[in-house]
Parts: sequence; C-alpha cells; structure tokens
Amino acid sequence: MSSILKKTDLGAWAAALEAEVFAPALADGVWAYQPVAPGANDGGVALTHPNTARPPKNFAFPQREVLYTFEQLKGQAPKLTETLPNPAPVVVMGVRPCDGRGAPRNDMVFTGAFDDPYYQSRRAKTAYVGLACNTPPSPNCFCKAVGGSPSSKEGLDVQLTDLGDRYHVVAVTPRGEELIEAGGKLFAEAGAADEKESQRLHSEAAKCEQRTFGDLAAAAPALKKNFDSEMWQSLAKACIGCGICTFLCPTCHCFDISDEVTGQSPMRGERVRTWDNCQFPDFTMHSSGHNPRETLGARLRQRVNHKFLYFVENNGTQQCTGCGRCISFCPVGIDIVAVLDRMIQA
Ligand code: SF4
Ligand code: SF4
Repeated sequence: MSSILKKTDLGAWAAALEAEVFAPALADGVWAYQPVAPGANDGGVALTHPNTARPPKNFAFPQREVLYTFEQLKGQAPKLTETLPNPAPVVVMGVRPCDGRGAPRNDMVFTGAFDDPYYQSRRAKTAYVGLACNTPPSPNCFCKAVGGSPSSKEGLDVQLTDLGDRYHVVAVTPRGEELIEAGGKLFAEAGAADEKESQRLHSEAAKCEQRTFGDLAAAAPALKKNFDSEMWQSLAKACIGCGICTFLCPTCHCFDISDEVTGQSPMRGERVRTWDNCQFPDFTMHSSGHNPRETLGARLRQRVNHKFLYFVENNGTQQCTGCGRCISFCPVGIDIVAVLDRMIQA
C-alpha cells in the first residue's frame, strides 16, 4: 500500500518523528544535509535539491570518530575506556537513489567478515527517506550504467516520488512503515491515479539520457587486462592528489587510526579513526620510505580497480553507484566514466 503526503506537510512529518531529522539545505551555495529544527515549517524540508555535495555516508561513518580514550598514571598500566556510540535515531530525508545504493555497499564492508560496532551502532539508528529522480540532477549522473535507476529503492527505508504538489510515498522497510505511521493523518491512501502517475514518472526517468561507459560486465575483465597499461599514467597526469573524488564518494570508506594526545600529566588522549584517501601519496607509504603506489597512475588505478574489479571479486557487485560526484568535483576533470570507457575499448 502506498500513500500521499502533501509537500506542505513535510515539515509537520519531520516534527512528528521521534528522531533527529536531517534534510538538504542550501548554505553558501552548497547543498548539504542540515538538521531540521523541531517544528520546522516546510521551508526547512523542501527537498528541492539536485543532490548534496557530500553523500550521507557520514551518518553511519563519521569523518572523525573516537574509538577509545586512554590515560596512563605514572607507574600504572594504561587505562583504556571504550567509547562505543549510543546514538539517537536519525532520519535523513531527500536521499537520492544513487546514495541510497551506497548504504548496502558500505554495510558489506563493515558487516560480515569484519563486524565494526562503531559503524553498526550508527547504521542501526539511521533511516533513509529517499527521493526518486524525475530527471537526472547532474549531467554526470550514470546510475543506469552501474545497475541502478533514478527510481531505485535499494538502501532506502521510504521512497518519495515528486508528483508536483504532493509526494507519492512507499514504505520500503519495516522502519519505513514506522516512519509513515508516525506521521498519522498527514498521510492519505494513494489513489489509482497517483500510483499510475508515479509509475509514469519512474518509467520516463528510466528513459532519460545519462552518461555511460557501455557494458558493466566488461569493466572488471578490462581492468584486469589493463593492469600494467601505460594509459593509467596519462589518464592521471593532471591529478593533484587532492582526494576530493574519494572524500565525496558515497562508498569510499578507507580510514586511518591515530592517537591524539590531549594531556601530558597524566598522559592521556584519544584513539581516533579518520577518513583516509587512496589518492594521497602517503596512503601506502611504508616506514622504510618505500611506496608501492608511488605514481599518480598507480593511485588512479587503485581507485577505479577497487570499485570495479576488487569489490566485484569480493562482494559480487561494483562499488560505484554512479552519483557522478567524483567527476563533477574533480578540479582537473578526471572522469571515471571516460577512464572506464578507455579501459573497455583498449
Ligand atoms: S579529485 Fe581529481 S585531482 Fe583530486 S585526487 Fe581525485 S582525481 Fe586527483
Ligand atoms: S566512484 Fe564517483 S560516481 Fe561512483 S559512487 Fe563514487 S563518487 Fe559517485
């Protein structure tokens, strides 16, 4: 069963949820998830964004996280104090389908072979209310080329489809059903005409023109074949190693762990996990000074191979959802679609 929510009731729905609610807002020219003030009117939750500059991955995997604190009194063994998070429930509204698909891919990394309690405790409390794309929000979108679609529900708890003055609302998970129930009378049962209009918009969006590199199944074998290709060096020549491509990626998840000392007497501090980046020269630097990924080409190859070869081998799916951020925000125009196209054609 699906429902209808008037756009003017979005703010009231957010206020009815027993959770911290975040929605995209424009600040200084940048769309970013911002907290919705309790009782906000619909101006605070308008969902008129193309896509946010940063994906929502930080809700489960923050950029900086304290893993434990330590303290050592003179002559005593160090005292370690666990800092496992116990977060309040969070609802993130307006998540685009590509970013929704990022969540299960990150779950594969932090759950299963290796269970990460920090990630899992935040993820368990995070719900995603998605917004289907009636038209691709960016010229660099390529969700269809990586097995997604502008109306994919993967990774979402609720899917909204914009019908003009109202949303067609579908619960995707039991948590999504709870969120809709919390809105009570704000939701009306969708009529047959609403269902039909929603399906029409989804199928129109599925026909939209997007970027593509061709056959997704051809990517992994092509990358394997071209591992030693000199093309990597020329494709990466302009890279300045800023790391924007991976920091803004909804599925990049590499991190570093360091100890930050906050006091000397007694010696105390925090063990901290922070996002790291395979495009930085010191990402793989050994203490001997040897760097197995010394060149820009080797680092670009790692980024692309991780997403379209190694992740496929390990998890049976590619680790890119086609959001296009790494293309749109790269200051020197390095384009993962063009890179894959070159590798497949070679
Ligand atoms: S955003 Fe572009 S320049 Fe920056 S590290 Fe990535 S590929 Fe290199
Ligand atoms: S690799 Fe690029 S296009 Fe793919 S999910 Fe990451 S940022 Fe988006």
